[in-house]
Amino acid sequence: MKLDQNARGTPVERSIHQKMMDFVIETYPGGFSLRKSFQRLGRDIARTTGRKAPWSPSYTANAYYGTFAKGRSASSEFIKGLEALAARVEGAKAPAFLLAARIAQVQTWQDNDLQGAFVMGAAKQCAYPGCSVMFVGTVPWRKFCPEHSPFKG
Ligand SMILES: [Zn+2]
Repeated sequence: MKLDQNARGTPVERSIHQKMMDFVIETYPGGFSLRKSFQRLGRDIARTTGRKAPWSPSYTANAYYGTFAKGRSASSEFIKGLEALAARVEGAKAPAFLLAARIAQVQTWQDNDLQGAFVMGAAKQCAYPGCSVMFVGTVPWRKFCPEHSPFKG
């Protein structure tokens, strides 16, 4: 089963906590089976909260896939531990909001290195009649794409 699809192949939006589990599992050594990853994740989350018994691989897998029985979900203790673990894994490299960031494909000038950057501005459509170009302006009051900017050149 793909992570961004349900059992029927329909795309589903993964929750921030599911993304946090992706993030933590990605830091585990390669060659780990998913079951081994769940075992380790359940143990690591338990350790983070000081809980003696690790969460079982099946419990962790249910949290990971969102496959708990109807009306049930991961415990608040599990979620608290997961958040602490994810923050610890991330360390000083980046703040927690990046865990929830969505990866988007964008276009830019050849010499403008946006790779991995967090884009804070919202995309808007060029105000030139009939132009469908979407852009994130360098200033909030920008109305036109580079092609239709009165200040180009
Ligand atoms: Zn335009």
